[in-house]
Amino acid sequence: MMISKFTDIGIPEEVARAMDDMGWEEPTPIQVSAVPIGLTGRDMFAQAQTGTGKTGCYGSIILGKIDVPQKVPQSIILAPTRELAVQVSEEMSKLSKYTGHVCIPIYGGASIEGQIKQLKKGADIIAGTPGRVKDMMSRKELNLSAIKVVVLDEADRMLDMGFIEDIEDILRMMPSNRQTLLMSATMPEGVKRLSYDYMRDPKEISVSRDEVVLDLTKQYYISVGRRNKSWALSRILDIDQPKAIIFCQTKRMVDMLIERLDQYKYVAEAIHGDMPQSKREKVLRDFKEGRVQILVATDVAARGLDVDDISYVINYDMPEDVETYIHRIGRTGRAGKEGTAVSFVTAEEEHLVHEFELRTGMEITKREVPDAEEGSKDTIRMVVDFDQAADVFGMVKFEINLGKKDGFGKVGLSEFIIRNARIREYSIGNIEIGSTSSVVEVHKDFGRKMTSDLTKMKFDGKRITVNVVQ
Ligand code: AMP
Repeated sequence: MMISKFTDIGIPEEVARAMDDMGWEEPTPIQVSAVPIGLTGRDMFAQAQTGTGKTGCYGSIILGKIDVPQKVPQSIILAPTRELAVQVSEEMSKLSKYTGHVCIPIYGGASIEGQIKQLKKGADIIAGTPGRVKDMMSRKELNLSAIKVVVLDEADRMLDMGFIEDIEDILRMMPSNRQTLLMSATMPEGVKRLSYDYMRDPKEISVSRDEVVLDLTKQYYISVGRRNKSWALSRILDIDQPKAIIFCQTKRMVDMLIERLDQYKYVAEAIHGDMPQSKREKVLRDFKEGRVQILVATDVAARGLDVDDISYVINYDMPEDVETYIHRIGRTGRAGKEGTAVSFVTAEEEHLVHEFELRTGMEITKREVPDAEEGSKDTIRMVVDFDQAADVFGMVKFEINLGKKDGFGKVGLSEFIIRNARIREYSIGNIEIGSTSSVVEVHKDFGRKMTSDLTKMKFDGKRITVNVVQ
């Protein structure tokens, strides 16, 4: 019998071996406190955020409690989103590498026939979203009579999303002697009620906010508009010279960024799903062995990427959900090394930062684009980004060097701008007249006219200057 820190807490040897293959070295705090209790068969109510190793925690309990593979569902994990269901299913499949249990995801928004076909082939563990699971049950395609362990993952979010009735219907259809494990980042009243109604004397476990797997990764975000992301990136690459993986939302964006980096003589390689496998493997090898320091990737292509010395993860495009965020930043800060994760966030995306902080319990600190060294020129230059400067109504504030002393009042200045910059009247908002300069609000669509057309002009022999007020 292999002795390890995992088998020490009761995790079956075959599962511990799979964890070893996944590069895990020791159990996380929640795994240490919850697995031994879960393995006794007791119901559990755990407060744990994403990033604490909660999937590995209930996964160990499931694999320790269910029978050898039978190809009928013995355990079901309910999750709020399709992404989480897929991710849980992937992690469970990895953990079952040596036990041979089959885990499949079931979720809405995709063909039900394909999922039924997969179910018919046989599965021991299901990771599914409540709506689709219930649908499968009412079609008699999914039989839960042999379920031994049920997990409600991110229970608070499932309640927020209005899944309560589906969850209750599903729980009622399961054997009453099953074990129930509930995971939730927060413990609102609705979640507590669910636990009283559907669990037997659950053991409460909570893991403090800072006990996350990702504690060697510092997380920052930089507020930057779309048009200046490549400028911000070039500053980071020039100043910190990191070994970096840069994530973009789409393959097209990956290609565009690679082209731009090429143009400025950075040595970078792309990796995305459209590339042939052989090419992808070559790129990964070059990156792993240090011939290339910059990798630009989509999420799909970066699945399972395990390179230990990545110093920076850069979210060139902010991911839309917290699971993707965690997965991305988990590529750095590995094997005991410190890592940095930086996200480029546009004005409309700032709310995501706060949402991710809340869901992971981790801090994402605001940071500025690093300063260039004195006297050195930026490789990629900053441009004016009217989108980023605009308020929620699309209005941008411009400072213009004309005011009372030049004989202007509000009406006069507005007419002057309309005529000379050829801007429509309705695109001009508030005007504050000062003595030698004024601030004028203009819709972002006319931003370029303000900064180019007007500045070609002179007034009373004085050259007109226009600057965006940030
Ligand atoms: P989770 O809280 O389940 O979302 O897990 C966050 C990340 O930590 C995932 O990428 C897991 O694969 C990883 N993880 C879970 N347990 C461990 C462990 N004991 N050691 C290292 N990584 C782990």
